[in-house]
Amino acid sequence: MSRPEVVDSVAALRAQVSDWRRDGLRVAMVPTMGALHEGHLSLIRIAREKAERCVVSIFVNPAQFAPSEDLDKYPRQLARDLDLLATVKADLAFTPTVGAMYPAGFATRISVGGPSAGLESDFRPTFFEGVATVVAKLFLQATPDCAVFGEKDYQQLCVVRQLCRDLDLPVEIIGAPTIRDAHGLAMSSRNAYLDEAELAVARQLNAILRRAAAALAAGTHQDDATGEAGRALIAAGFQKIDYVEARESLTLAPWRRDHAGRVLAAAWLGKTRLIDNVEVPTV
Ligand code: AMP
Repeated sequence: MSRPEVVDSVAALRAQVSDWRRDGLRVAMVPTMGALHEGHLSLIRIAREKAERCVVSIFVNPAQFAPSEDLDKYPRQLARDLDLLATVKADLAFTPTVGAMYPAGFATRISVGGPSAGLESDFRPTFFEGVATVVAKLFLQATPDCAVFGEKDYQQLCVVRQLCRDLDLPVEIIGAPTIRDAHGLAMSSRNAYLDEAELAVARQLNAILRRAAAALAAGTHQDDATGEAGRALIAAGFQKIDYVEARESLTLAPWRRDHAGRVLAAAWLGKTRLIDNVEVPTV
């Protein structure tokens, strides 16, 4: 298995994509921040089913980290990432530098309303601006036909869909299911921060959210279901709950009974913040 070709300049990226286009090939993109795991690889497998060629970007995007967040300690392991990309036959890795993405004088930010309101934004107020700005840049640089994003970051997926709709970016956004370990913990590059004891607590997050979603489906009032989930997370060993909320799946407006719903949560284990979400089952 050979590693994908690696390019770090927009010019080289565009040259490769236009060669593919000339050959009539469809191009998919999977944006990542690297430290790849099975969750990322699942997106690339989906991308390869949807298009003949797949570009994976690896870029730890400073614009989506607040000054207090883990930008400096975020895991960076390009050689290992390229080995993993070889196993799923990604065609091209795009690894721009921070200086190339945000040269001196860079002054544009994209702010998306709608689904970005609340949830993550209440705790990371500039996060989605950073995400929308980098995703718009990546799409304009690579001009993919489609792009795959994980439901693991459910609000981000909704924000990216809104971004493309609102700015007429001609990129089909494909949502991909969350990949979990055998205990239900959503795979995440940040799981590497967890020690053994924290990992045992983290593994209860998904079951607690699924219980809340089942309770909602069974008719429990949403304040009771999400309140109980918050208490269960604290009892399990999480130190701080940022939110546990039920929202409508498509718009992320507050959930109304008989509408497709999602329970979303963010909670802290020591210095690590974990997020997860589950679908409200239909009964
Ligand atoms: P990140 O590198 O964390 O920015 O994630 C890059 C992409 O991988 C995003 O679309 C994430 O939603 C997706 N992703 C991260 N973890 C998972 C997972 N466990 N299952 C599916 N997709 C994931």
